[in-house]
Amino acid sequence: MLIIPIFVPHAGCPHDCCFCNQKIISGQTSMPTEDDIVETIERFKTAATRYDDVQLAFYGGSFTAIEIDLQLMFLKTVQPYLKSNGGFVDKLRLSTRPDCIDVEILERMHKFGVGVIELGAQSMDAAVLLASGRGHTAEDTIKASSLIKEKGFELGIQTMTGLPMADYASDVETARRVCEIKPDFVRIYPTVVVKGTALHRNYLAGRYSPQKLEEAVELCLELSEIYDAANIPVIRMGLQSSDNISEDGEIAAGPYHAAFGQLVKSKQMYIEVCRKIESLEIQEYNDKFLYVYVDAERLSDCIGQKRENIRRLTEQYGFRRIFVKEKRSDIEKEKNDKIISVML
Ligand code: SF4
Repeated sequence: MLIIPIFVPHAGCPHDCCFCNQKIISGQTSMPTEDDIVETIERFKTAATRYDDVQLAFYGGSFTAIEIDLQLMFLKTVQPYLKSNGGFVDKLRLSTRPDCIDVEILERMHKFGVGVIELGAQSMDAAVLLASGRGHTAEDTIKASSLIKEKGFELGIQTMTGLPMADYASDVETARRVCEIKPDFVRIYPTVVVKGTALHRNYLAGRYSPQKLEEAVELCLELSEIYDAANIPVIRMGLQSSDNISEDGEIAAGPYHAAFGQLVKSKQMYIEVCRKIESLEIQEYNDKFLYVYVDAERLSDCIGQKRENIRRLTEQYGFRRIFVKEKRSDIEKEKNDKIISVML
């Protein structure tokens, strides 16, 4: 799938969530004009021919909270590019707040070819929502989600971990309650402290402590297992790296990592390998070689960033050497009493 992103910054949003500085996250400070939008779409025209599914996304702010004339300008500008009008874009997608959805809004979105709506739920815990300045309730999320699904849109739910007043248990509970909504997909964003936000001021004053990277990875691993069990795809974990969001740029503190999602998947694979090894009930590992066989697309997750999983497995079990190999149907497994083979 190719997604053509049109960033709609903070304007239009009457709220001030403690973690948000959309002007930084969206990478620009003014609303895109008609010409900007056309120019962006035209830039993707050639690349679009290589994809089966091309979507145009209005991201960044709360689309359905923008003044109506602007919404209509955006929606009308992109109409000629929709496949239904002879263009190459299959459908539109947008993100918004749970309290900015009603039947009239959804009918308008449907008329203009919007197919996917993502709601920034962030948490399902009343105290967390209040402390984060969200200005909506968990009930708003439940109500908006059911309307979105009823009207036939694909529904995405965005959640955050480590917000003020949140802890491990409340973030897990949020995931459980999001599962009850049965969205088509979710995104999970560990809270990072972006410079210039209320959260940054609270952090500097010692009133907010962000999650540590390892804590956020552990938590997101548990959350992704909850979503997996409910058959809800997690399409993103962690903020996307950009020129404006980086450890040496706008982020003051918090569990930011440019490849956060891969850290979680690697940890998951490490646990999987450990479980397999334990099930073999081997007494002595020190003189043994470990061979791990895995699908090609999971090879790098299995090895881990900077060979992290190899290091952890060596430390934990003391294998002489560890090999991670691609699993194939015709595989001839290495065999001798010094070799332990694990198939994932
Ligand atoms: S609702 Fe969205 S755009 Fe508005 S302040 Fe909160 S996070 Fe930022």
